[in-house]
Amino acid sequence: MDARLSREGIVGARLSPAQLAENFADLHPPLDRHEALVESDRCYFCYDAPCMQACPTSIDIPLFIREISTGNAVGAAKTIFDQNIMGGMCARVCPTETLCEEACVREIAEGKPVKIGMLQRYATDIAMAQNKQFYNRAPSTGKRVAVVGAGPAGLAAAHRLSMHGHDVTIFEGRPKAGGLNEYGIATYKSTNDFAQAEVDYVLGIGGIEIKHGRMLGRDFSLSELTADYDAVFLGMGLAGVNALRAEGEDAAGTENAVDFIAALRQAEDKTVLPIGRRVVVIGGGMTAIDAAIQAKLLGADEVTIAYRRAKENMNASEYEQDLATANGVVIRHWLAPKRVLNEGGKVVGLELEYTIIDGDRLAGTGETLAIEADQVFRAIGQSFRPEVLNGSGASTAFEGGKIRIDAEGRTSLAKVWAGGDCVSLGEDLTVSATAQGRDAAESIHKSLMG
Ligand SMILES: Cc1cc2nc3c(=O)[nH]c(=O)nc-3n(C[C@H](O)[C@H](O)[C@H](O)COP(=O)(O)OP(=O)(O)OC[C@H]3O[C@@H](n4cnc5c(N)ncnc54)[C@H](O)[C@@H]3O)c2cc1C
Ligand code: SF4
Repeated sequence: MDARLSREGIVGARLSPAQLAENFADLHPPLDRHEALVESDRCYFCYDAPCMQACPTSIDIPLFIREISTGNAVGAAKTIFDQNIMGGMCARVCPTETLCEEACVREIAEGKPVKIGMLQRYATDIAMAQNKQFYNRAPSTGKRVAVVGAGPAGLAAAHRLSMHGHDVTIFEGRPKAGGLNEYGIATYKSTNDFAQAEVDYVLGIGGIEIKHGRMLGRDFSLSELTADYDAVFLGMGLAGVNALRAEGEDAAGTENAVDFIAALRQAEDKTVLPIGRRVVVIGGGMTAIDAAIQAKLLGADEVTIAYRRAKENMNASEYEQDLATANGVVIRHWLAPKRVLNEGGKVVGLELEYTIIDGDRLAGTGETLAIEADQVFRAIGQSFRPEVLNGSGASTAFEGGKIRIDAEGRTSLAKVWAGGDCVSLGEDLTVSATAQGRDAAESIHKSLMG
């Protein structure tokens, strides 16, 4: 191994504050009025709107684009928020290239979809800048609902419940609300503290109290919640991180990618964030891509993503993969981690084994490769921690290691609904978590009102 690497290792201040500010600026600067009008003019306002069918929250896309084209951006924002109160964040983080924009007829006809995400951002930004609150609370029903987790699922559920006149208490383990919008989404997708601005906007409806530092399973139990409240919504996401199962993975310099990203998102001063010269990220999803790009933007010289299957098997969209390579990240396929190499307990490299498909399963070939690294990020998926439920006094049915729900978001327990990443039908997308929170709230409302 290169002696300079192991001596220098992971350090802060690789780049100047000015360079970091430039690197972490908005990925897609917002459209101005003229650009939004020109772009909205490209929409055919299709009567069967395939874009709308591809949206997990079923926003009336042709309607809001028409409203923009007639100069009514605030009306467009209302059309968006009617279906998706987190429409501002979704406009920034949705993989539109695999959702609405993939289905857009202009994508199919000419490979250039209407920029639905950018138009959505244009409209929601205008309404939020004016703090335009479109919804009043219905007269109080006297019903009290507990929500666990202030991520997109919990916030969307809380907003819809409050709209129907119920009083909502959110129990949130962390000091800030927003869930992964605050602690996980890549910095360049959500700049200027947008996640907190959105939380404030959602809470603007009133009737929602957030209790921070209150963890289900640690500070209170599910049976206490069901006894104290008329209904409970569980939206606590995925707190567990899958293990690498590679020898030596505890060596200093090996870290979970989600922890690295959370630290980056919360850093007041990015110049002090420690980053290696040669970074390897293991995984093939959005988290792997985000960790790799941000490592590069922090000043790492070489960043490699090692993924155990083919390009087309990666969970990250082709657009995300291209974004990584455009930022100088090298993506290598058919490689599985075997051993983290260390000197004096510090990472100096990674031994990987080439993989193949053998019948219908992935197998190692026995041939290995060593990559020099002074920092290794694990991005191989998160998992649900069932002990917070069963350990807290009630048994819940699971499916695929997550909470089982029906089409309305009901769990196997009376009075308990769930949605977002923690449920079996979760899709690990902000927009899907929002849709499930909203739909569960409608189901809770129906049930509470008989
Ligand atoms: C690094 C990363 C990048 C991502 N990037 C994107 C992206 O670009 N686009 C996209 O669409 N999706 C992205 N996702 C996925 C998206 O962030 C999630 O699907 C979405 O946030 C799920 O929402 P949720 O409300 O179910 O859970 P979360 O956002 O995880 O929120 C759960 C909340 O519950 C709290 N909590 C947990 N346990 C407890 C407990 N026991 N008691 C009380 N509170 C608790 C947590 O602190 C958290 O605030 C990304 C995910 C990761 C990890
Ligand atoms: S599919 Fe494309 S062109 Fe048709 S309504 Fe949707 S955004 Fe407009």
